[in-house]
Amino acid sequence: MKENTIIRNARIYTSNEEAPWADTAVIEGDKFTYVGNENNAPAEAKDFCSVDLGGRLVLPGFIDSHTHMALSVMMDGDENSFPIWDCRSKTEILRKLTEYMKKHPFRLYYVAFFGQVEALADEKLTKADLDQIVKYRPVVLLEKECHTAWLNSKAMKMLKIREDVKDMAPGYSYYERDASGNLTGKITEMTMLPLLGMSGRISDKKLKTGILKIADYLLTRGVTTVYDAGCYFEEEKTYKLLTEMDRSGELPIRYEATYIINTPEKADIAVKEFKRYKSLYETDNIKFKTIKIMFDGTHRAHTAKLVEPYHDTGGTGGTMVSEERLYRLMSELNREGIDLHAHTVGEGASKMVLDCAERIIREQGELKIHVTLAHLETQRDEDIPRFRELGITANFTPHWHGGNDYGTAEQNAELLGTWRAEHLFRAKSMMDSGANVTFSSDEVTLQLLDRWNPFLGIETGHTRRELTKGGRNAAVFPPLSECLTIEDLIKGYTVNGARVLRLDDQIGSVEAGKSADFMVLNEDLFTMDPYRIHDIVPEAVFVRGKCVKYREGISFPGAVSCRVF
Ligand SMILES: [Zn+2]
Repeated sequence: MKENTIIRNARIYTSNEEAPWADTAVIEGDKFTYVGNENNAPAEAKDFCSVDLGGRLVLPGFIDSHTHMALSVMMDGDENSFPIWDCRSKTEILRKLTEYMKKHPFRLYYVAFFGQVEALADEKLTKADLDQIVKYRPVVLLEKECHTAWLNSKAMKMLKIREDVKDMAPGYSYYERDASGNLTGKITEMTMLPLLGMSGRISDKKLKTGILKIADYLLTRGVTTVYDAGCYFEEEKTYKLLTEMDRSGELPIRYEATYIINTPEKADIAVKEFKRYKSLYETDNIKFKTIKIMFDGTHRAHTAKLVEPYHDTGGTGGTMVSEERLYRLMSELNREGIDLHAHTVGEGASKMVLDCAERIIREQGELKIHVTLAHLETQRDEDIPRFRELGITANFTPHWHGGNDYGTAEQNAELLGTWRAEHLFRAKSMMDSGANVTFSSDEVTLQLLDRWNPFLGIETGHTRRELTKGGRNAAVFPPLSECLTIEDLIKGYTVNGARVLRLDDQIGSVEAGKSADFMVLNEDLFTMDPYRIHDIVPEAVFVRGKCVKYREGISFPGAVSCRVF
């Protein structure tokens, strides 16, 4: 785009609550200098390059408020792993594994992603089952979401997991034992960190290629900023590489980095390490403002912290650290001015963070930092209004809201009890309570790149019907009352995300004075068939006033003569 441009005849949804719609925007250099009605545009703009958008919808650039870019590349970067996504029973899992072993008998070890935990139903998978298939080489079966793994005896031995091993965090990160107290081979959550790095170090070249592949995909879908919610291993290597990339102009996206607490010990060194990262690795596009804690697990692995017990096992899950330790961490962050992002799936985990925040306000007068609670799959009624009251942000991943990671209604009720099973992902109640709500992709694999698509998130958050189960023909994932409006979703992907990342003076809305990050669509998100939303690819995406992506073959009226594209 030339230095100064006037975009006219557009349908601009600004995400600015005071003036949500406009038809004209003036861009000077990298910033919007006017957004509003064409009649009131500054007189000098009539000499600017004029682009008539023919009534097309314009949106602010999206912010993905919880992603895992580098982690996804690493999870993908192992040639000893193979995906078996669609197994539906233990027999099928073991059969596919056997077939693979026969085909590749000389691989050093095997890591398989086998899909949902539900595939096992009530059948236990043990190291004895795996030993029957492979005895002399290590085998690791990893469930798709990487919260549970099953190891054969050889893998247990290789990772030095002996019978006297201590759990990292009981109920959350632990080694399963049978009735007689012996290890079964099943391990959960962060106890599997050593095996995720088992394949050795990923090369810089592979890491960079993977990161650029994700960034490129996100940009084509209108995402111009991400918060990376953590790289479980090779964290410093990743930041070093990203910094080098940005310094040489190769990082095309704004990247909010983090320090991740994924073992209890890391809570003790987090602030010191965070400050070190910040001093070494900040650039124009990379900022450190937030520490992340993996505070609980997932419902399917029974590791998410609940208030009322799981219906099937009677357990209540667990947390990475105790509530008292969390309080000390949050107090330290509050003093240091470092924001917190916490993985909290179960209602018990979010309640603990809310209680700590309340205590800080009571005892220290003020919660100065931004606190985000991510995932929030179950929520107690009484905790929903507390987010607004305490100024805490709620983060959801709307492409899950069709229930793709959950089983059937019966399975969910068996796991969580009927009420909770019918009240998962209550983002609309949270939004309507006045809390700041943000949205994100939260993927951990390159193999399902389409799940990173914010337009899939918008469709599923709006319809609560899962695309892979038939989209419009799929059943609504209850409750229907939690369907979000398109406006809710756009705000959660734009201005609300900017607010929590302290970028709201720069991005998040189409507003005079802000960076010209925006996209042009050829579909009207507000009126179109909602079951086609996932197919949207913006015609053009701009970052800092510069067109970074445009769809092949499109021509905007007036655009060609201005050499915009
Ligand atoms: Zn995550």
